[in-house]
Amino acid sequence: TNGAGERKVVLITGASSGIGAATARRLAADGHHVFLGARREDRLEALTDQLIATGHSAAYRRLDVTDPADVRSFVDRARVTYGRVDVFVNNAGVMPLSPLEALRTDEWDRMLDVNVRGVLHGIAAALPVMRAQGSGHFVNIASVGAYEVSPTAAVYCATKFAVRALSEGLRQESAGDIRVTVVSPGVTESELADSIGDPEARRAMQTYRSVAVPASAIASAIAFAVDQPAGVDVNEVVVRPSASA
Ligand code: NDP
Repeated sequence: TNGAGERKVVLITGASSGIGAATARRLAADGHHVFLGARREDRLEALTDQLIATGHSAAYRRLDVTDPADVRSFVDRARVTYGRVDVFVNNAGVMPLSPLEALRTDEWDRMLDVNVRGVLHGIAAALPVMRAQGSGHFVNIASVGAYEVSPTAAVYCATKFAVRALSEGLRQESAGDIRVTVVSPGVTESELADSIGDPEARRAMQTYRSVAVPASAIASAIAFAVDQPAGVDVNEVVVRPSASA
């Protein structure tokens, strides 16, 4: 089991790559039960098989966080399988950066749907289960873009400011039973930049990404929050490459 000696049931959205997959590996290795969701089932299956083959506890279900009913089914499946939902990691996110002037409105909608509505769907599905248990923990992945805005990132930053606002509201309203942690990564190795369609934003991001921290560094921050004893709530963690200002 983990350092705190408690084996938790941890649900992770966006577990098919990057930070979500690294978090699954880390928390499974720490002795927790991990239940993984994302749209690319082949990736989830391969990761789950690998974790089980190395003696860990893992399972997965296909998940689209933009569909509230699907998120409810995801949580239900975990609850039926393990009997509880201790931690819900709202990690799924997309980042198709572009200048506002480019009016890529479909991409704005997609960011709002995944990064904001997806998190709300996670809260709506898991909060009642956690309330009924008398305890639970949301770990919501924001970004350094949740603290400051930069060119081409207005909509993305707006979604991450929203993740922080929702997390703080949830923390205030559910203090006592539910812990709420916001983990805000700086540039991290993952597939996130692959979603950038705008050529100018894509070029800028390639330079920016040369100092990225490994996804396991973000997984460590999540593990730190998860493994605190009951009654200790780590609210915000920002993890940046030491090379960024
Ligand atoms: P990746 O692109 O590697 O991972 C994103 C994950 O989100 C994938 O597993 C993807 O899975 C999943 N996802 C996307 N859309 C949906 C959806 N509709 N339903 C379910 N899952 C979905 O990037 P990261 O690991 O970097 O991203 C993880 C989080 O970290 C995001 O919230 C991102 O904003 C945040 N972040 C990342 C930073 C970085 O530099 N990498 C910096 C700051 C924050 P699939 O396509 O299979 O559904």
